Amino acid sequence: MNYAQTLSTIYDEVLPLIRKGQVADYIPQLAKVDPGKFGIYLHFLEGESFAMGDAEEQFSIQSISKVLMLCMAVGKLGERVYQRVDVEPSGDPFNSLVQLEYEQGIPRNPFINAGALVITDMLIDAFDDPKQYFLEFARAISGSQGVAYNAGVAKSEKQCGFKNAAIVNLMKSFGNIKNDVEDVLELYYDFCSLEMSCQELAKAFCTIANHGKSIINKKKYLSESQFKRITAIMMTCGFYDEAGEFAFRVGLPGKSGVGGGIVAILPNKFSIAVWSPGLNEKGNSLVGMKVLELFTTKTNLSIF
Ligand code: GLU
Repeated sequence: MNYAQTLSTIYDEVLPLIRKGQVADYIPQLAKVDPGKFGIYLHFLEGESFAMGDAEEQFSIQSISKVLMLCMAVGKLGERVYQRVDVEPSGDPFNSLVQLEYEQGIPRNPFINAGALVITDMLIDAFDDPKQYFLEFARAISGSQGVAYNAGVAKSEKQCGFKNAAIVNLMKSFGNIKNDVEDVLELYYDFCSLEMSCQELAKAFCTIANHGKSIINKKKYLSESQFKRITAIMMTCGFYDEAGEFAFRVGLPGKSGVGGGIVAILPNKFSIAVWSPGLNEKGNSLVGMKVLELFTTKTNLSIF
């Protein structure tokens, strides 16, 4: 298979869709991103890689950080993480509050905001300096010291994060947040503000595709069972209320973020990251979804 050629064909095919989506503007700093940006990076576990467009330019990974947060929590605390957060698709938008009240403050899964906020709360108790540890973890598995937080994005989100504040407070009222709500929100916004390129993301997620063992430093971060479970949650919950659509069209476990990034993996084989800031009405990168659909269709490389 000529992957360079395949990516190039896909790139040309989706070019007319660039700028068709809506850049996330509920976080003022993200509204400033050029909607014309477009990068793809494909990395095989065996070492081969292929890049297109702005693949080396960093962007705000936003909710993609939720997967790394979960890896960090499960790696340290084990399966008890799942006592405070469920593993069911929500079928609701990422920042929805409605289910939380019916379900006594237990979020549907770790990849919606409520779930990631509970995970953040756990990380505050589990690590002396979770912000630094998270950064070092992302740097280690991406093999890049250039990975960094963007304080401006974190601040910008904090200033208008009324829904996230409501979510944490509601969960606190049910006893599912142990720390101060402001501390939880602040760390959560830091995690979301992490900036990585498609190249760095694809390399980092090779760790998950490789059953939790980094291809960079060869360290095993997840047990087999932890790998299986995290991958399953990516498959069922990685795309807000469009997880079914992504499975249907693409057929890979993955995670998106409102910065317009999507990363997907085929266990034992590869990781692929796409960035195009224009989002569809569900908050997933419009072009990113199409690229990945075309990729798995043209290469027959999906889990199905
Ligand atoms: N920081 C964003 C928020 O909490 C993340 C959303 C996302 O990427 O899904 O709204």
